[in-house]
Amino acid sequence: MSVFSLNGQRAVVTGANTGIGQAIAVGLAEAGAHVIAAGRRSCAETVAAIHAVGGSAEECVMDLADPAAGAAVLSQLGDLDILVNNAGIIRREDSVNYSEADWDDVMDVNLKAVFVLSQAFAKQALARGAAGRIVNIASLLSFQGGIRVPAYTASKHGVAGLTKIFANEWAAQNINANAVAPGYIATNNTEALRNDPQRAADILGRIPAGRWGDPTDIAGAVTFLCTPAAKYITGTILNVDGGWLAR
Ligand code: NAP
Repeated sequence: MSVFSLNGQRAVVTGANTGIGQAIAVGLAEAGAHVIAAGRRSCAETVAAIHAVGGSAEECVMDLADPAAGAAVLSQLGDLDILVNNAGIIRREDSVNYSEADWDDVMDVNLKAVFVLSQAFAKQALARGAAGRIVNIASLLSFQGGIRVPAYTASKHGVAGLTKIFANEWAAQNINANAVAPGYIATNNTEALRNDPQRAADILGRIPAGRWGDPTDIAGAVTFLCTPAAKYITGTILNVDGGWLAR
């Protein structure tokens, strides 16, 4: 079998109804995985897209506003080989006015859910002595400060840290944990930036590739990290940013 094949693997992708998560779900399925597309609302469109390319998928409701409830759902999904923690939210406000409610909401979905889902995934894999792959979706704001997004920046720095501690604790049991840090990708998450002509022009002008990223750009990197070809890669954060951080 090809080292780039995911045949026989069962994968969960959170936030799989749209954007980057949807592209990752399709990418994993195209590589041969059975994909459980998890969302707080229906992932029927993603499942249909996977079936359209001859892949195998099902959907599952998982609202990560309550991370522990999400982890309980994950624990009921049977044997899993791959977990992609993709779901994320962003709330914009000056740090001086940032509300506690926005802070808590963002930290719950973007960071606490990553911890408790990964913990539930690892518990199950360790109990059956199985290998596993965790891929977390980080951000440029895992490295940079950003503007008006304090909770998002804190959460994504946290995601980078969790990726490394998971790698340290579980590598010997063949559970690899990596992250992909997307640059500026055209999705709902960045709609406000793309609608602001000045910010949009500033951003585009700094991207060496000369274009915004597409969700499929992220899917390729995530899929690679889940394949046997990447079995010695753990604890890494792979920037997929058209060169932004190299600049
Ligand atoms: P998106 O289109 O807004 O997708 C975010 C996904 O997370 C959606 O499926 C969303 O579901 C889901 N989600 C939000 N709250 C949830 C909850 N409580 N429970 C379960 N799912 C929830 O944005 P995206 O750009 O594809 O973002 C995907 C990931 O990439 C996020 O972690 C984001 O931080 C990260 N990222 C994006 C960019 C970028 O440029 N776009 C850059 C760096 C990192 P709903 O559709 O129901 O809201």
